[in-house]
Amino acid sequence: MKTKLITNREDLIQKFEYFCKKHLRNYASKRNFDLGPPHKNVSNLSPYIKRRFVDENEILKISTKYFNIQKIEKFVQEIFWRTYWKGWLESHPWIFRDYENEKKYPEIPKRTGIKCFDHWTEELVETGYLHNHARMWYASIWIFTLNKPWKLGANFFKKHLLDWCPASNTLGWRWVAGLQTVGKYYLARAENINFYTNKRFNPKNQLNENIQTIASESFDEKVLNPVPDKFLEIKNFYNPGVVLTNNDLTINNVFAEKKIDFKSCIFTDSNNENFKSELVLNFEKKLTENIFKTINDIKLISNLNELISWVKREKIKNLIIPYETVGNNILNKKSFLYKLNEENINYNFYIRDWDRLAYPYATKGFFNFKKKIPDLLKLNEIVDIDKGL
Ligand SMILES: Cc1cc2nc3c(=O)[nH]c(=O)nc-3n(C[C@H](O)[C@H](O)[C@H](O)COP(=O)(O)OP(=O)(O)OC[C@H]3O[C@@H](n4cnc5c(N)ncnc54)[C@H](O)[C@@H]3O)c2cc1C
Repeated sequence: MKTKLITNREDLIQKFEYFCKKHLRNYASKRNFDLGPPHKNVSNLSPYIKRRFVDENEILKISTKYFNIQKIEKFVQEIFWRTYWKGWLESHPWIFRDYENEKKYPEIPKRTGIKCFDHWTEELVETGYLHNHARMWYASIWIFTLNKPWKLGANFFKKHLLDWCPASNTLGWRWVAGLQTVGKYYLARAENINFYTNKRFNPKNQLNENIQTIASESFDEKVLNPVPDKFLEIKNFYNPGVVLTNNDLTINNVFAEKKIDFKSCIFTDSNNENFKSELVLNFEKKLTENIFKTINDIKLISNLNELISWVKREKIKNLIIPYETVGNNILNKKSFLYKLNEENINYNFYIRDWDRLAYPYATKGFFNFKKKIPDLLKLNEIVDIDKGL
């Protein structure tokens, strides 16, 4: 079941252009079908957008070369789902802290006899990807048929998904479990699986399709402001140093577009990575190598001391680090910041306009958030539309 993973931008954009020409037109009607790898009816972009190896703005600009934005409304909304989940978690960080208390990573589940579930286990471990519908069915079977805790399932995904995203994964599992939208849970049904897998699977009489009770919880916390009070504006800094991390592997482009001279490095911290599968680690290594090859003079840095030496050697006056949202901490750690302060290094966590403009609308449900999409498209200079999509 192994699939070939793209790890360079040129091939990725070429593949996405092909997707636009061949499949984007039918995305809304076909996207819910899981026809098995290589999943041609969806974009497969999540491992790249997650790390901003390509960013949302770039993807939507390419899409609108082929279609009027109204014609690809569903795709645009899906692109904004990640933004919405990330923004929502910024204002409800205790939800992630509660999930993070579960430190155990389950073994790969043994065969259950439920063919689709066993197949998806294998597909996830071998390819690092599952179709969205399969993720919903899998999580639902895990929780309601196999009676396993949702947090363990979320950790299983966390280890193996190439696109693991603290917000989309945690909130996706919570949504299936009935915790995210109170009283609403997602139940996998054999008939629905049969239809949307094009009859590849039919777990008739194997699933618990009759739920009596669902989990509940109560937190007494105040919804936070999802964006920082002060944010960094890009102006003509004197000798800035831009740090690329797995949170944003193209942040350098933001500075290049503004014609600002800067030094750059890629920071990869292996202490952060012990939960990841070999497949994920190799994938990230290849993405990093690709960036290293394509940007002149970029340095590869693997710990804080090396970063500090680089800043001093290059006489960097402003260290720019991609903004770290909940669950994505790489450099925004007390011990790291303490050291940077001790060395008198001036650093800033830079939040992209895409996130800064959208997060304030993500504190409630997606239904309210999506009404703001036309404004956000305009503010991000993707298209100028007055009415809804
Ligand atoms: C239980 C569960 C766990 C999930 N865990 C993750 C995760 O760890 N990381 C992750 O990126 N997505 C997660 N998702 C969301 C979704 O399944 C994937 O983003 C999607 O399948 C990626 O495939 P694609 O790129 O081909 O999507 P496409 O359908 O081509 O969509 C285009 C892009 O829109 C975004 N997107 C689409 N659907 C969603 C969604 N439901 N939520 C957030 N963003 C979306 C992604 O960036 C995606 O690349 C999860 C969903 C569920 C139900």
